Amino acid sequence: MSHPPFLIVGQGLAGSLVALSLLDRGAAVTVVDDGAADAPSRVTPGLATPIAGPRLTFPPSGAETAAGSWRRYRSLERRFGQRLLQSHDILHMAGGREELRQFQKRSLDPTFSHWLGRQFSPGDHDGVLADPWGGFEIRGGQVNVPALLGHAAELLREADALHPGVVATDELQPDADGVTWQGQRYREVIFCDGPAGSTNPWLAGVGLQRVPGEVLTVRPAQPIPSHIYHGRAGYLAPQPGQHGVFRLGATYGTPDTPAAPTEAGRQALLTQLPRLLSRPPRMEVIDHRAGTRPATPQRCPVLGRIPGRPAAVLNGLGARAMLQAPYLAERLVEHLLDDAPLPEGCLAPARPE
Ligand SMILES: Cc1cc2nc3c(=O)[nH]c(=O)nc-3n(C[C@H](O)[C@H](O)[C@H](O)COP(=O)(O)OP(=O)(O)OC[C@H]3O[C@@H](n4cnc5c(N)ncnc54)[C@H](O)[C@@H]3O)c2cc1C
Repeated sequence: MSHPPFLIVGQGLAGSLVALSLLDRGAAVTVVDDGAADAPSRVTPGLATPIAGPRLTFPPSGAETAAGSWRRYRSLERRFGQRLLQSHDILHMAGGREELRQFQKRSLDPTFSHWLGRQFSPGDHDGVLADPWGGFEIRGGQVNVPALLGHAAELLREADALHPGVVATDELQPDADGVTWQGQRYREVIFCDGPAGSTNPWLAGVGLQRVPGEVLTVRPAQPIPSHIYHGRAGYLAPQPGQHGVFRLGATYGTPDTPAAPTEAGRQALLTQLPRLLSRPPRMEVIDHRAGTRPATPQRCPVLGRIPGRPAAVLNGLGARAMLQAPYLAERLVEHLLDDAPLPEGCLAPARPE
């Protein structure tokens, strides 16, 4: 007997990847998206940094997350015939001696060393970097999110499986065999609703937060080498497909405050440049965007079935969405279709009231 489709709420990064993984497994999907222009998946520069933070750690779902997501990007590239994850040796400027010690320790551990490149001394990169402590390379990359979302949307449209609109939770009618929405039957609803999940009553108790952030698109007056420059203060990363254009990011606002491009945000981003480049050229700001990261206070993603409802969720991807989403989408699909266990390090949704 054939099943009705899964109803996926949201076609950002999470919803696109869950839909693609379900389609790969032969399951039917219907994806509904309200097309919000400030959805973080439409704002992000798409940095994928496998090891990050002062202690140089993997995301909470572990080392396999990075390897699994990398494999998934490569398989989607073969399918869509376009590079989606551009590999980069990210030039990370160390914040001090302790961070360099941590790098050296991690370099001796094969789980980490695969994702770490060489250490560099102050001034090594022709004096371009603002690196009083030197630094090291992180083997990461940059995801071309617009291309990924575009390919996913095209595939879904061809199958008549992508619809503009809003799924209001009070229109969802759950029962023992699935859920009805606007007169159609669905097997389960999967919430990939990003920051809107923080007010979704089916996700109440999860503790999703909205963390606003701003990012600039800049054109340096003099050319600078096309690297990802990364430091404690932020990053400067090439804009995929636009030669000589970079993204300068990102601010972190107070959780649960609105996101909007502000003069203070623009200034904060521009004043961090001398902490990335030793002699930053004048930058023409060609775009200024704001968006909201869906995050949890524990910095863990939210993954799994919602107890007592024909529903599941992938959300709370925070600032490490590029790294986590492909792997977690595949694990969620295996969980829904095969009852496979979910990876550790993710928060389970709570039972709604
Ligand atoms: C400034 C900034 C910089 C960032 N930089 C990075 C970075 O470099 N690397 C990184 O990994 N992450 C980064 N992030 C975070 C990353 O962008 C997000 O975590 C990720 O895009 C979240 O994807 P999502 O699919 O969960 O949510 P979204 O992108 O919000 O997608 C959800 C979609 O669902 C739609 N939707 C919501 N509710 C409904 C509903 N009821 N009905 C219909 N549609 C609905 C929304 O409009 C949206 O289109 C950044 C975020 C910001 C704001």
